[in-house]
Amino acid sequence: MHLNSYKFIVNPVAGGGKARSLMPKIEKKFKEAGAEFDIYVTKGPKDAIEAAARAASEGINIIVAVGGDGTVNEVLNGIVHTETALAAIHGGKGNDFATAVNMPRNLDEACTALLRANTKSIDLGKVLDRYFINSVGVGFDAAVALRANQGVRPFKGVSAYIYSFLNMLYSYEPVEMIIDLGNGPVQNTPLLVAVGIGTAYGGGMRIVPDAIQDDGLFDVCVMDVMNRLSLIYHFPKVFSGTLKNLEQAGMYRTSEVKLSLSEPRPLHLEGEILFGDKLHFTLKPKGMKVLWFDDSDNIKVKV
Ligand SMILES: [Mg+2]
Repeated sequence: MHLNSYKFIVNPVAGGGKARSLMPKIEKKFKEAGAEFDIYVTKGPKDAIEAAARAASEGINIIVAVGGDGTVNEVLNGIVHTETALAAIHGGKGNDFATAVNMPRNLDEACTALLRANTKSIDLGKVLDRYFINSVGVGFDAAVALRANQGVRPFKGVSAYIYSFLNMLYSYEPVEMIIDLGNGPVQNTPLLVAVGIGTAYGGGMRIVPDAIQDDGLFDVCVMDVMNRLSLIYHFPKVFSGTLKNLEQAGMYRTSEVKLSLSEPRPLHLEGEILFGDKLHFTLKPKGMKVLWFDDSDNIKVKV
């Protein structure tokens, strides 16, 4: 039964220390189950990429990112092109990947799910030489993320994000770009463009709520500029997944996206801010093996 070998890659600062605090219980569960496993605590940014690559080359076949979406993204960039499967438990501030694969939030259930290890291959996106497995945003959303990341003392976490959102409402200048969604170039100056394999980014913002992870296509949202009041009014809809119903939201499906910006701008890619002006999004169909859970797995356990 336990032919799988697991490596837990733990980001000790994820979720304000939440990821680290989960480990003793996970360790106990895996010992009890007699599973083959090992734990690695990362030493700083990008360390998870190296650690994951090393583990995959040693023949570990399941790597569990214990952190948030930033940790997941580093792990996946370390094991891309290998047969090693990616898993994640809810351990950070944003856990959009763990949510996308239906990983239970309850830790006992999560361990049971990990030990059951049902796999599925889902699509993998790439832009600016970085792979992603959920969603990437360019424009207003990335500017807000960048502002929040830069630190807006005394604000932290959600309040830093809200402060940055309000700040950007007044200072954000949309950038002109040529958008090619496979039907030829179109000139536009949108509020934002989001390219998704999974439905959400930024910790539950369902910007492309109809995205399917293994259909070989990106779901793309091109949001038109709107005035401040409309933006404030409509913004909460991104959490309910109803932003797509706005006339300002164009939703598309395509296997390739080219954005040519008039000047370099930030994009937010699963916890990281990158900069670029020529953004070519490519998709590798079913390019990543992940641990996948659903209700039919019947993983509910009594606690
Ligand atoms: Mg898709």
